[in-house]
Amino acid sequence: MSSHQFQTEVSQLLHLIVHSLYSHKEIFLRELISNASDALDKLKYLSLTDDNYKKLAYEPRIDISFDDGDVKKLVVRDTGIGMDAEELALNLGTIAKSGTKNFITSLTGDAKKDSNLIGQFGVGFYSAFMVADKIEVISKKAGSDKASKWSSDGKGTFDIDEAEKTDFGTEVILYLNENGKEYSSRWQIENIIKKYSDHIAFPIFLEYFETKYEGTDDKEGKKEKKIEKINSASALWKRSKSELSDNDYNEFYKIISHDSDEPLFYMHTNAEGTINYTTLFFIPKLAPFDMFQADYRPGVKLYVSRVFITDDNKELMPTYLRFLRGVIDSEDLPLNVSREILQQNKIMTNIKSASVKKVLSEFKKLSESNPEKYTEFIKQYNRPLKEGLYSDFGNKELLQDLVRFKSTTREGFVSFADYVSAMKEDQKSIYYISGDNEETLRDSPLLEAYKEKGIEVLIMNDDIDEIVIPTLIKYKDKDLKAINRSGTADELKTSEDKEKEKEAKPVVEKIKKALGDTVKDVIASSRLSGSPSCIVMDENDPSIQMQHMFKAMGQKQMPEFKPILEVNPEHDIVKKIADTNDDLFAEDLSFLLLEQAKIMEGEEIKKPADFVKRLNRILNRSN
Ligand code: ADP
Repeated sequence: MSSHQFQTEVSQLLHLIVHSLYSHKEIFLRELISNASDALDKLKYLSLTDDNYKKLAYEPRIDISFDDGDVKKLVVRDTGIGMDAEELALNLGTIAKSGTKNFITSLTGDAKKDSNLIGQFGVGFYSAFMVADKIEVISKKAGSDKASKWSSDGKGTFDIDEAEKTDFGTEVILYLNENGKEYSSRWQIENIIKKYSDHIAFPIFLEYFETKYEGTDDKEGKKEKKIEKINSASALWKRSKSELSDNDYNEFYKIISHDSDEPLFYMHTNAEGTINYTTLFFIPKLAPFDMFQADYRPGVKLYVSRVFITDDNKELMPTYLRFLRGVIDSEDLPLNVSREILQQNKIMTNIKSASVKKVLSEFKKLSESNPEKYTEFIKQYNRPLKEGLYSDFGNKELLQDLVRFKSTTREGFVSFADYVSAMKEDQKSIYYISGDNEETLRDSPLLEAYKEKGIEVLIMNDDIDEIVIPTLIKYKDKDLKAINRSGTADELKTSEDKEKEKEAKPVVEKIKKALGDTVKDVIASSRLSGSPSCIVMDENDPSIQMQHMFKAMGQKQMPEFKPILEVNPEHDIVKKIADTNDDLFAEDLSFLLLEQAKIMEGEEIKKPADFVKRLNRILNRSN
C-alpha cells in the first residue's frame, strides 16, 4: 500500500465543494456517469482503431447498484478504458485543469455565488465527497491483468493498493454519509439518471432487489435481484429535433459541459448532402472561466459515426469561438483521424467552415428575434467576437454585425447598423473614440464638438478595439474614424469655423514657439467648445492608448510619438496668450494647455516639478 497527499488545490477544492455545492449535491451522480461514459468512449475508439484492443471482448455498459443495509453504499461501474495505479494517483489526486489556482482564489466565500462558479468549473469526481465519507475506486486498465484500488476519506490523503477485479473498467464505491444516504434508493437513483443521463450513448443498468411473496402465508418473502436498463442510450444529437424538448437539450448540455446551469441557447444542425454531419452547439450562460487563458480547455467533442474521437482538439473550431460547447459528428471522416490528419482533412475543413457560418448566422438571428437575450450574450462574448473580426476575415461581414459598442447618445449596446441608421443626413463617417477607460473617454474634450452637433460617437474601451477597429477601415460604405486622430474633425467644420481657424494663426505660432519640439504640431481647432485644448495623434502614428498597450507588453524601445496640440481660439486662456507681451507667461500657459490635455487623455505628467513650477507662477500673478 502507498499513501499519498492530495495536491494543495485538490484539498482546497474538496473543502469548497463540500461547503458550497451541497444544494446541488445530486450532481455527483451525473459527474460519475459522465466519467464512465468518457471512459467507454475512449475504449470504444481504441477497440475500433488499435490492433491491440481489437481482440478485447468489449461490452460497453454502466452498472449502478446500491446497498441500503447498515452501511449504505452506492456503486457505479463501467467497462471502459480503466486506470492503472499511476493514473489513479494522477487523475484522482491532482487537477490537470489550467488556471485552477486562480480559479480557487477567485471564489468569494459566498456560498451561492461560489456554487455557480464551481458548477461552471466542473468539479467532476471530487463532488462525490459531498455524499460520501469514504470512496474507493477499483480499476483495471483495458489489456492489463493487474487491478488497483484508490481509497480516501477526502481529507488530505489517499491510498493506492493492489486489488482484485475480473473485468477491466472502473468501479467507484461510495460509502454514503448522512447527506448521501437518500441515494441508496432505487427511485432516487432512477430519477436522477432520467434527469441527467437519459442521452448518454451507452446503456445504464440499475440493479435492485425486489421482494417476492409466495402466497398469503409468506411473511418474509424472497429477495429477487433485478437489473433494469434505465436510459434510452441513444446519442442525443442523432435524434431528430422534433423528438427532443428544451429540457432534453438542457440536461444533455449539463453532462457534456459540467455546467450546473442551463445554456443560454443551443443550435442543432443536421446536414445532408455532399458531406453528412450533425452538429449540436451550446452557448453557456456565463463565459467559461478559462476563456481568456491561453491553455483554455476546448469544449467541442468530435465523433465519427457516434464514436467519440477527441475532446481535446482546439482546431475543431476557430479560437474566437472557444466558448462553444457541443458535438460534431460525421460519418464521412475516417475513424482513425489523427490530429495531423484532422488539420489537413478537407471534409473536416468544410464542416468547420460551414459550422462557423451557421453559428454566426444563428447569433445574428438571435440578435434580431430576441434582443434581450442577445444583450446577455454580448455581455459575455463581445470580446471574443471582436477577436473574430480580426482573425476570421472570411466572416467579416457577419461578425461586424454581431459586435456591439457603447455610445455617447444611447444607453446599452449599439451595433454599427444601429449607428448608421441614426446618422445625420450629411454625416459621412462613423465616429468612435477608443481608450481603456470608459469614464475618461466620456469626459474627453474631443467629444465636445460632436455633442454640440448631436452626433453620436461610439465608445470603444475594450483593449482589443484599438487593434481591431482600425483594421476594418469601413463598415459597408461608411468610413470608420477615430476622433482622437488629427483631421477627423475637418468634416464637421463650417466655412465660418475655417475662417476662425485661419484668424488664429498668430496665436498658434506663438504657442508653437513656446512648446518647441515637445509637440508634433499646434493647430487651431473649432472642435472644442468648453475646453481650451486637446491632444490628438497624427493619423499615421499609434494612438496614445496603443502606445500604453505596447509599453505594458514590454516594448521599451518604442520611438516617442509626439502629440498634436489643438487649441480653442475662442477660449479665454488662448486669448490671454494672444494678448500678452510677457514671453514667460505665454510659455507657462502654453505648457499648461498641453499638460492638461494630456491629463484628460489619462497620460502621466513627465516632469511634475516643472508642471508645478509653472502652475505656481501663474497662480501667483497678480491680476
Ligand atoms: P474530468 O472528468 O473533468 O477530467 P474528474 O475529476 O471527474 O475530472 O476526473 C479526472 C480524471 O480521472 C478524468 O479526466 C479521467 O482521466 C479519470 N477518470 C475518472 N473517472 C474515470 C473512469 N470511470 N474511468 C476511467 N478514467 C476515469
